[in-house]
Amino acid sequence: LTFASLELVQPLLRAIQDAGYSTPTPIQAQAIPLVLKGGDLLAAAQTGTGKTAGFTLPILQILSERPGKPASIGRPRCLILTPTRELAAQVEESVKTYGKYLDLKSLVMFGGVNINPQITALRGRIDILVATPGRLLDHLAQKTLDLSHIEILVLDEADRMLDMGFIRDIRRVLAVLPKKRQNLLFSATFSEEIKTLAAGLLNNPACVEV
Ligand code: AMP
Repeated sequence: LTFASLELVQPLLRAIQDAGYSTPTPIQAQAIPLVLKGGDLLAAAQTGTGKTAGFTLPILQILSERPGKPASIGRPRCLILTPTRELAAQVEESVKTYGKYLDLKSLVMFGGVNINPQITALRGRIDILVATPGRLLDHLAQKTLDLSHIEILVLDEADRMLDMGFIRDIRRVLAVLPKKRQNLLFSATFSEEIKTLAAGLLNNPACVEV
């Protein structure tokens, strides 16, 4: 199996080659075609399985091929929520690495740092926003962020987000997103709490497990 056989576009294949990957991991082989089809996804995958490329590659492809809504300055099209700053930074690094030959802009935002540079960055063009829930809510409260153009939502390491007590924050974010969107949920474990969240969030999801 090759990345080309997953029907990824040339700019992504070049970036994958630059990264030195020769074959897709099992989660990538399963998730990439499902996400490209546009449906919701429930994925059971641990860190180290290649899950990040499993969602960032098809998201980059979808956003590059589909025109966004007009007047989209400062309005991201994809929101990726992560439990920690470290993971947010890693995921955004992956977005930049895999998207280096595409014309898409990403931004990472987390708490514990000055909010003002983030406010400035939010006035520019952003396609993909990677964030932790707390800081995202700060921006929503200050009206420095508009999530009305979100087409794709990813909850990465959803089990850790629930363990860290982010469920209410997540629900407050979900409440301001457009109803029509693609939802991807990644979790290492499946507690009753995760199943409840998934049941309320995902529409007829494809399920993958590695
Ligand atoms: P992740 O599970 O997303 O945190 O990825 C774990 C590590 O695997 C990262 O350092 C990636 O750079 C690497 N990786 C992801 N996909 C592949 C692949 N297809 N082949 C080799 N390494 C990969």
